[in-house]
Amino acid sequence: MHELSLAHELLKKLCSLAKQHHADRILEVNVAIGPLSGIVADSFRFGFEALAPANSVTRGAVLVIDSPLPSYKCIHCGNILESQKTHPGCCLRCNRTNFILCGGDELLLLQIKIE
Ligand SMILES: [Zn+2]
Repeated sequence: MHELSLAHELLKKLCSLAKQHHADRILEVNVAIGPLSGIVADSFRFGFEALAPANSVTRGAVLVIDSPLPSYKCIHCGNILESQKTHPGCCLRCNRTNFILCGGDELLLLQIKIE
């Protein structure tokens, strides 16, 4: 289970962040899971909720998951567009169709609330 190990990584990171900031508890965690990351948000949440209680720092932490749209960059003119689809179609600026993916495939830690 890919998501379980990602959730484990995130929790490890949260514990070290809490330590750095001399916090006793993590209250809330905001992450963004890109739609092309291959990460299933529900499985990730399941993993997080299964593992978080094992540590007093992360016990009871609320996980908030954002799902940003994937973004594409036109290789001809550099225009960036966001699209729900796996290919954005034509570039709105130069009308060509060659893109590289430049977002939406990541897991990002956006924000945490600590106490
Ligand atoms: Zn273009």
